[in-house]
Amino acid sequence: MAVLNIVKEGDPTLRKVCRPVTEITPRILTLLDDMKDTLHRANGVGLAAPQVGVLRRIVLVECEEGDLIELINPEIIERSDEIQEEVEGCLSIPNRWGITRRPARVTVRAMDRTGKTFTVSGEDLKARAFCHEIDHLDGILFTDRTIRYLDPDEIG
Ligand code: ZN
Repeated sequence: MAVLNIVKEGDPTLRKVCRPVTEITPRILTLLDDMKDTLHRANGVGLAAPQVGVLRRIVLVECEEGDLIELINPEIIERSDEIQEEVEGCLSIPNRWGITRRPARVTVRAMDRTGKTFTVSGEDLKARAFCHEIDHLDGILFTDRTIRYLDPDEIG
């Protein structure tokens, strides 16, 4: 278990398209454990593998403490027509916060660490986190979707 370095905006890794995981190897399991440590240390809601320099389709989301969701090869298979406009930030883009337009609810299909396929749904923050993290796997950052940045006096 280890805390990994989180790459920051400007690093080309964040703009690459990640490759699917074809086999759950000991290396992938170690990566999942290290990403968990890294997410917890950073106090984040989500983390994608490219943020720790690994171009694999893996993300973690933890909107409530103890509710860690590991998603391998995640795909959004359903999104609500209803849209939310809420504040987003990113561990790779410190001290910037912007409003994005995201579906209010999404359903994601992914593989777990045992190789089993599962689906998980989320709304509000969880839906935003799924969308944000899965975007990372295609080299998309929340700043690409920001419709307005927060002014310093709007940040609590
Ligand atoms: Zn991010």
